[in-house]
Amino acid sequence: MNATRVLVLNSGSSSVKYQLLDMRDASRLAVGLVERIGEQTSRLKHTCLSSGDTREQNGPIADHDAALKAVAEELAKDGSGLDSPELAAIGHRVVHGGMFFTEPTVIDDAVLTEIERLIPVAPLHNPANLTGIRTAMALRPDLPQVAVFDTAFHTTMPESAARYAIETKLADRYRVRRYGFHGTSHAYVSRETARLLGRAPEDVNVIVLHLGNGASATAVRGGKCVDTSMGLTPLEGLVMGTRSGDLDPAVIFHLQRVGGMSMDEIDTLLNKRSGLFGLCGDNDMREIRRRMDEGDEQARLAFDIYIHRLKKYIGAYYAVLGTVDAVAFTAGVGENADFVRAAALAGLEGLGLAVDGARNAVRGGEARLISPDGARVAVAVVPTDEEMEIASQTYALVGKDSRGN
Ligand code: ADP
Repeated sequence: MNATRVLVLNSGSSSVKYQLLDMRDASRLAVGLVERIGEQTSRLKHTCLSSGDTREQNGPIADHDAALKAVAEELAKDGSGLDSPELAAIGHRVVHGGMFFTEPTVIDDAVLTEIERLIPVAPLHNPANLTGIRTAMALRPDLPQVAVFDTAFHTTMPESAARYAIETKLADRYRVRRYGFHGTSHAYVSRETARLLGRAPEDVNVIVLHLGNGASATAVRGGKCVDTSMGLTPLEGLVMGTRSGDLDPAVIFHLQRVGGMSMDEIDTLLNKRSGLFGLCGDNDMREIRRRMDEGDEQARLAFDIYIHRLKKYIGAYYAVLGTVDAVAFTAGVGENADFVRAAALAGLEGLGLAVDGARNAVRGGEARLISPDGARVAVAVVPTDEEMEIASQTYALVGKDSRGN
């Protein structure tokens, strides 16, 4: 039997998201989530997409090992457990691959060591990703396991975009540079945008706006990333749900010297209590919209700051690219919030950018154009699919072997 299935695992510090895909027809067989691992109130939610069955388990799941075993049991109930001969590989999302990993990579001891070496630049994410990988490897040591890195798509950035203007020797010693994140999404969406335009990715320049709870913008020239808004960590760039994005680094010195805050407190402030949440107490764009409709001025100001920053990045990446064929909106806010898309491009007609009101208002899960006919620059809504991208990259790497050619 041909092994054509890929299990995609996205392991966070207290959660594991997973999807089982069949790459014969790029179909999704199962999706699920284990959350609050290590607490009394852990929950596993599993949906088998062929039968439509959804099952839930509530109660303590002690660690990632127990979580993955529980996931394996759920998959086995659908007849597609981890021991299934149809399983070709497990694809792992890994947040930080540094400059070393430019491609999806089959995981061995050397790869594990390198991901571990990157922990100082990704202290929140890489340890959790590693735990997931180690657990999966212990369960299926014979199966190829592939790491797909959030940073890989951005390794094509020129040094002029990737370096900060600080002392070179120091930057090199501590690996301080701009890595960028959400790369799997930016890669997928920029390619899908080219497809929507009926053109080859190599022939198209796209500005991708990934607007979720985390948010980032990318300038993509001919299928390759030439600039991105996130930096050493996912804190830089756009205003996000709870992250500040760009600010004068001296704000940190000021908060420490004048405000008496510790570095850890400032870290938490900028990552968890800033952005839309810090500005108005809500980080969900739906709630902010509702409050604005009621005339709430704090919510309006938070929205205006979010849009102002977004517009600045669109302008900046327009200049970086010189010629822009398309602007693509994706992720939770980008795919669903027509008012964000309209506001972000308002007044940019001089750059050939406009949104058609009726097209923008249409909701749907398909990639679609929302610019008026004949627009100089296409504006698109392109639903992202990071799991599909991880599965395709994983399968492309190991599929040949498992097909026996
Ligand atoms: P992440 O993966 O970064 O957690 P998502 O891409 O799932 O985030 O985006 C989540 C965000 O999308 C929510 O915080 C919410 O602000 C926004 N969102 C989801 N649905 C809608 C909607 N219908 N209208 C406006 N915003 C939405």
